Amino acid sequence: MWNQIIGHELTVAPLKRAIENSALAQAYLLTGPQGVGKSLIAQTLAMAALCEASKKPCGTCATCQRIINDQHPDVIGLRVLPDKSEIGIEQWRGVEAKVQFQALEGDRKFIIIDDAERMSMSVANACLKTLEEPPSNTHFVLIAHDADRLLPTIRSRCQHLVVSPLPQSVVESWLVKQGSDAVVAKRVAALAQGSLQRAQRLAKPEVLGVLDVMTRDIQKGYTPLQVLEHAASLAILPEAPEVLDGLAVALRNMAVAQPTVRVLQRMRAVEEASQYLSTKGANKELILNELFITLAP
Ligand SMILES: [Zn+2]
Repeated sequence: MWNQIIGHELTVAPLKRAIENSALAQAYLLTGPQGVGKSLIAQTLAMAALCEASKKPCGTCATCQRIINDQHPDVIGLRVLPDKSEIGIEQWRGVEAKVQFQALEGDRKFIIIDDAERMSMSVANACLKTLEEPPSNTHFVLIAHDADRLLPTIRSRCQHLVVSPLPQSVVESWLVKQGSDAVVAKRVAALAQGSLQRAQRLAKPEVLGVLDVMTRDIQKGYTPLQVLEHAASLAILPEAPEVLDGLAVALRNMAVAQPTVRVLQRMRAVEEASQYLSTKGANKELILNELFITLAP
C-alpha cells in the first residue's frame, strides 16, 4: 500500500521506519499544495499502524477497508464541514471526547486533522493544549497547505514532513499507466501542477474539450451570448477549478510571449474567480459571467 504513494518515497521513508521500529511520533505535520497526496499518506500511516495482516498495510483486511471508507472508530477525521469556513470548537469537543477513551479496537488512535490551518483560534489553542499533554497511544496527523498559517507552538510539537508537488515527468508517466494517450498525458502533466488528483480530473475528454474552447476564445474573442454560454457550462462542471487553472496557464504563456498590462489583468481576474468560486454559497454563474466579460480580448 505504501507503493500507491507515488513520487514521495523520501517523504514517507521516516514514517515506514517509525512503523517498523514501533517508534511513531506523537504528532506529524504534513504540508504541501492541494492534491499532492497528503491525505493518502495520513491514511496509509494509520493503516500501517492498525492493519491486521502480517505485511502492513495490506489495504484489504477489515481494518484497512474501514479506514479507507472513513468508518474506523480509532481513526478520527476532523475537517472543515461543507457549510463552514473553519473547524469549529464544537467539532473539536467531539474529537476530544473520543480521545479520552481507550482505543476501541486496536491499541492506539489516530486523529487526522485536514486543513489544519483552518482551525478556529479556540480550536488551535485547544489542540495545542492536547499536544502539550498528549493522551497515551494517540497520534495526531495535521495536514496543511501552508505551515506558516499554523501556530508556531503547534508546528514545533509536530514532526514536519513536506509533501512536494510531483515532477511533471512522474505525472506524465502515471497518466500513461492509467491509460491516457501520450499526447494528452504530456499536455495534462504540464497543467497539473504536480498533483495526480488534478491530473486525473483534467485528463477527461469533456474537461479538456471545454478548456480548449475557452482557451481559443480568450485569444480570438467571443460574443456576449458566448459569455453566457461559457459561464453556464462551466458553472455546472465539477472540474471548473481545473479549467480555470488551465486558463491561467494559457494566459501566463500569453504574458511570456507578450507581457502587457491587459494580460496581467486577465490573469488576476482568473485567480480571483477561482477564489470566489470556492467560497461558501457562491453564485458560480454570476462569478463566471463577470470573469468571461473581463477575459474578452
Ligand atoms: Zn490491512
